[in-house]
Amino acid sequence: MAAQVKAPPLRESPGVTALAPESMAASRPYVASDKIQQAIGFPGTLDEDFAVVRDKAIAHMGSLLQRYRSLKVYLDACVHCGACSDKCHYFIGTGDPKNMPVARQDLMRSVYRRYFTWPGRLVPRLVGARDLTREVLDEWYTYYHQCSECRRCSVFCPYGIDTAEITMAGREILDAVGYGQKYSNEIIGKVHRIGNNLGLPGPALADTLTGLEEDVKEDTGADVRFPLDVKGAEVLLVTPSADFFAEPHVESLIGYAKVFHAAGVTWTMSSHASEAGNFGLFIGNYEQLRRIALRIREAALELGVKRIVVGECGHAWRVAYSFWNTLAGIGAGANDPFAVQLQRQLDGRYRQPMHICEFTWDLIQRGALSLDAQANDHRVVTFHDSCNVARASRMGDLPGGQFDIPRAIIRASANRFVEMDPETTHERTFCCGGGGGLLTDELLDLRVKGALPRMEALRAVADRHGVNFMATICAICKAQFSKVLPYYGFKMGMVGGVHQLVSTAIQLGPKP
Ligand code: SF4
Ligand code: SF4
Repeated sequence: MAAQVKAPPLRESPGVTALAPESMAASRPYVASDKIQQAIGFPGTLDEDFAVVRDKAIAHMGSLLQRYRSLKVYLDACVHCGACSDKCHYFIGTGDPKNMPVARQDLMRSVYRRYFTWPGRLVPRLVGARDLTREVLDEWYTYYHQCSECRRCSVFCPYGIDTAEITMAGREILDAVGYGQKYSNEIIGKVHRIGNNLGLPGPALADTLTGLEEDVKEDTGADVRFPLDVKGAEVLLVTPSADFFAEPHVESLIGYAKVFHAAGVTWTMSSHASEAGNFGLFIGNYEQLRRIALRIREAALELGVKRIVVGECGHAWRVAYSFWNTLAGIGAGANDPFAVQLQRQLDGRYRQPMHICEFTWDLIQRGALSLDAQANDHRVVTFHDSCNVARASRMGDLPGGQFDIPRAIIRASANRFVEMDPETTHERTFCCGGGGGLLTDELLDLRVKGALPRMEALRAVADRHGVNFMATICAICKAQFSKVLPYYGFKMGMVGGVHQLVSTAIQLGPKP
């Protein structure tokens, strides 16, 4: 553990957060180098003349306001009622008033008023309008990288104002003037070049998957395959690249493979599209989002698959569910020749794309999988809803399927399941503290503090019910919790995937 990072004390009962003004003013991620910026088509660095930077930023803000009506509505509609102010995990964990969602919005709203409203132009001080200065731009960089775009605050806003959209616009403007974040932009460059966030080339991926086949054979005696680039397979699985080898992620990949094996469904992964994650979302740049999504379309066309299934990754599922259609025509939406070709190729009897939980739950309901829940009796399980799944997507045919289906799989795979405080689950779930492009070591202090509300809810069920396993369906949540759990006195291994539980419970031999 880094010596300077300390977890805040758990509160007995969530109450009023003590204010600590400016306490996080120095927390900011590394700035992207010229090389990283230019590799993905952004200006390399800030112009030395700030007037040039300001004019560019304001012009870019103007174009976003034109393109996204929601952004203008969000900037105009807030009445400063304060309902959102104590709902952000980063405010709760840090006490810095600038981490109140309304204050985060005001960082941009004040500049919007100055340049895009008459009162702001004529009497700026009277309406809280301010010039875009270098200091203001730095403040944007600092506090728009203390928002995980989790959208929890929007659940409590009477107007539905979505701070995440404002954060995304802030980051988009920063990139447009050459002030990008190293972590996210470097990863986006790797996906464009190599196909996944880790920069894992195809041959290394093939070796890794062969190794997994040997491991599973040794454990179970079954010939479970982890196929790569197999033309004519029924299903293309697109999963976060962390699933290929990181713990606990790989346990879920093993779970998916066992499900495909048990169901007798042919499947493949792709070395061209070996990443479900799409950090274009985090930086609010729809062109990057589209380019990354297109790799999946290209792979699906090349391999001739009939179905596309997405592995356990929260923001990837949001992108697949909400954006793949209009960005890349996967399933529906776009009507360019490749989109139309793919729409004809995919099997219309199935949801396109489909979440791995929908795939597995459908098999469980049809009696096609044999699960021995007793195999998980050493675990007392709880479930952490991941933000992007909970508040920005759906699963199945019924409202709330994104909450019910993962829980139904857990209940089919484990006998002991306990819910955390309902104020911290379902659509009110708290972010893990590492989402939205903040899962980088230089932000560890912020990440540990931002995890506080989830850790409090986990501590309560661990003490009362002996919970020793927190399941989740997000690669970022898994990585973040593995890192921060020890700061709160938990074992890092107590987090894992829903398909890790399936993997433990599934019976691969003939059905009894
Ligand atoms: S979107 Fe999430 S992280 Fe951002 S201000 Fe709202 S609650 Fe905080
Ligand atoms: S809850 Fe909505 S209207 Fe109220 S302060 Fe927050 S963003 Fe503004």
